[in-house]
Amino acid sequence: MRETKMICTMCGKEYLGEHFRCSCGEPLELIIEKKKSVNISWKKSGILESFSDLLPELKDCGSLSMGEGLTPLTKIEHAMKDGLELFIKNEAINPTWSFKDRGSYLAVLDAINRGYRNIGTVSTGNMAASIAAYGMRAGLKTTILVSDSIPEEKISPIAIYGPRILRVNGDYDRLYFRSLELGKNKNIYFANYDIPIRVEGSKTIAFEIFLQLEGRVPDFVIVPTSSGGNVRGIEKGFRELEACGLSNYIPRMIVAQALGCCPVHRAFSSGDNQIKRFARPHTIAHAIENPFPPSGNAVLKILRENQGITVAVNEDEILTAQRQLAKRGLFGQPASAVAFASISKLKNEIGIKRALVVAVLTGSGLKYPAVLKEQPSIVEATDIDSLQDLL
Ligand SMILES: *Cc1c(COP(=O)(O)O)cnc(C)c1O
Ligand SMILES: [Zn+2]
Repeated sequence: MRETKMICTMCGKEYLGEHFRCSCGEPLELIIEKKKSVNISWKKSGILESFSDLLPELKDCGSLSMGEGLTPLTKIEHAMKDGLELFIKNEAINPTWSFKDRGSYLAVLDAINRGYRNIGTVSTGNMAASIAAYGMRAGLKTTILVSDSIPEEKISPIAIYGPRILRVNGDYDRLYFRSLELGKNKNIYFANYDIPIRVEGSKTIAFEIFLQLEGRVPDFVIVPTSSGGNVRGIEKGFRELEACGLSNYIPRMIVAQALGCCPVHRAFSSGDNQIKRFARPHTIAHAIENPFPPSGNAVLKILRENQGITVAVNEDEILTAQRQLAKRGLFGQPASAVAFASISKLKNEIGIKRALVVAVLTGSGLKYPAVLKEQPSIVEATDIDSLQDLL
């Protein structure tokens, strides 16, 4: 067995054994003992086999995998006339149509390997559906804590998997930390957004991009960011590729947010190293509407250390980007369109010209069709006899 420990992303305190978060309140990161020689390769059998040299040693005895990860990297031709080479990492091609499945798969395996019979999470969106799917598939008792104000249309895509759903009245931000405490007392594995094993899941996005670009490393990776767990994972993946000598460069991370909820962008732009709660968040990009991201401070640190960039886009820009992406064949949910919308900002405001850029399409546009009311549908009508004239 390779040794593993956890280290706090902020205070550096080290932990052995099972921990979800540092006593200082900040997120922990998993450190796996290095192998002498590291190999990664694209194996159809799944992410665990493909990247086992750089992942925790988890066994999938009960065939929990549903083919998460190993998603397409799609080239956007003529993205920009002046030298931008743009690819979209299409995470909509996952069993529950978002990147969350990578982390949920590993988290549920981790819970099983540690002997848990109960799993849960705090979420009203993709995370809830993903944990519900993997938890129920594994035969674990699965509990999803949702906020009191969750609209019915968001309940049914979770409920279909059959988990226990609890509406909780009270401060929804506090529920994240409260659930981790309660999990300890009640023996429930709370697989919340940015726990260390989920970050390991997001690492595999970086490994795949590296393989798909045949060993080239992007200059920039654009990640629509809410809790910060995904961007932390992608950065960690590239950092590990460099540390083991497979690459010699770490891309600059671009944290993309909606202007209606941009706590990371706001803190970073004003040079703060602490996130302040974003008052009255409101955006159509619900999947990235976390006003007080639990990995926010850790993300700020990554951005500072690695010449990162933050961008925030308005609601019109999000809807326009969603249509533009669809014109290239890719239908992402509004949160994912935020990454695409950021590109024109980067070009105009930051002046990126020649660059290799990957934007992460984090989830499918079909998941929440209610938001499509915001998009114009142009439909013409005719009777069958006049059809010939119209065509
Ligand atoms: C969860 C989610 C995000 C944000 O990821 P974080 O790890 O919370 O930063 C972005 N887009 C979609 C579609 C998501 O489901
Ligand atoms: Zn700490």
